[in-house]
Amino acid sequence: TLVALPPVVRDVYATVLARNPHEPEFQQAVHEVLESIAPVLDAHPQFVDGGIVERLVEPERQILFRVPWVDDRGRLQVNRGFRVQFSSVLGPYKGGLRFHPSVNLSIVKFLGFEQIFKNALTGQGIGGAKGGSDFDPHGKSDAEVMRFCQSFMNELYRHLGEHTDVPAGDIGVGAREIGYLFGQYRKITNRHESGMFTGKGVQWGGAEVRTEATGYGAVFFVQEMLAMRGSSLEGTRVGVSGSGNVAIYAIKKAWQLGGTPVTASDSSGYVVDDAGIDVDLLREIKEVERARIAEYAARRPGARFVEGGRPWEVPVDIAIPSATQNELDEDDARTLIGNGVRAVAEGANMPSTPGAVAAFQEADVLFGPGKAANAGGVATSALEMSQNAARQRWSFDDSEAKLRSIMKDVHDAAFDAAARYGRPGDYVVGANSAGFERVAHAMLAQGV
Ligand code: GLU
Repeated sequence: TLVALPPVVRDVYATVLARNPHEPEFQQAVHEVLESIAPVLDAHPQFVDGGIVERLVEPERQILFRVPWVDDRGRLQVNRGFRVQFSSVLGPYKGGLRFHPSVNLSIVKFLGFEQIFKNALTGQGIGGAKGGSDFDPHGKSDAEVMRFCQSFMNELYRHLGEHTDVPAGDIGVGAREIGYLFGQYRKITNRHESGMFTGKGVQWGGAEVRTEATGYGAVFFVQEMLAMRGSSLEGTRVGVSGSGNVAIYAIKKAWQLGGTPVTASDSSGYVVDDAGIDVDLLREIKEVERARIAEYAARRPGARFVEGGRPWEVPVDIAIPSATQNELDEDDARTLIGNGVRAVAEGANMPSTPGAVAAFQEADVLFGPGKAANAGGVATSALEMSQNAARQRWSFDDSEAKLRSIMKDVHDAAFDAAARYGRPGDYVVGANSAGFERVAHAMLAQGV
């Protein structure tokens, strides 16, 4: 609410509420940043005088478009397409595309707003954006997905380019969709412009480790947080939600670092496997067969499927919510705390509600917000752009080593900023402040 905010940001938040009345996720994301940055504004009166916050809460450009396509039965379908180009002060607009029935302007704007600070925190030269559609790839044939992607790109291509706006994947947009989208851009423009999209196949300009980067990075972030308390993943039980690209590679890296990942989920429920999730089986079911998560328990002796539930009732030492926004509420947080959780790292964007974040912090649970913990994905996208510009392809091991060191830098930047602004150990304040500082200085330097 308004009164909970420091006076220095109240007016700007009132304007956000008035201008964006039906956008609860966008309001939530803005509120969370504004709550954090009052000490940064106090220390930098030039940011207040320069109207940095007033400017940042308004996207530089919002694109909304019709996406007509014909399904396999010959019927016309119409979806809505979005691209919100939030900030280009640090580099070309950068952020994923999400295809999911829940996508609307509020969701795209919350994601685009968060992307500004996340991308700044990586230290790479990338601005912030997000896009997508309310199209649901589930249950569609490959041919339908292709026709949809082609129609989507028929409009969006004019707003993209390696120096302008560089999309990537997000929920519902993986290797298949990226291939169709990139292919259509290439055909329309007559340019094989590899730097205009990231997450491409490694045979045609994609980077090693981009697929793994978000999940691996989230676990590296946990490793850094635990190290501050002299501990590690060795021997821990790890609870992961989701079963997409982020969850699968968080599970894989948790295994590699000595943990036992015991859960995975989708919108139908979750599975718990005390022997540890078989990542190859999970991948086969979710990525190859595109089936429901219950199938995992059906094929894996000892695993259980819990219909409709959320995995947070399973006792774990470490939780990595990697499904979607607001999937872990205050009650879930209290259950996790009661069961002894020690660290939480957000693999998804804004998966914890504000009440959940407050509960974790009050209980002194290490809490890594998405802007820091899941920044490995977009950071590796920036590495892909570098390789495209230089016509190079780095090895898997080199790329993973770069991701590892970026995650340490992201952790340290957030940790140091939290300490500088009088909130030691608060990675929410730290990530928001460090990201905001970098963007604000660049905005002042570049003028109104
Ligand atoms: N969708 C991812 C994110 O939330 C990746 C974006 C990108 O690589 O551009 O950060």
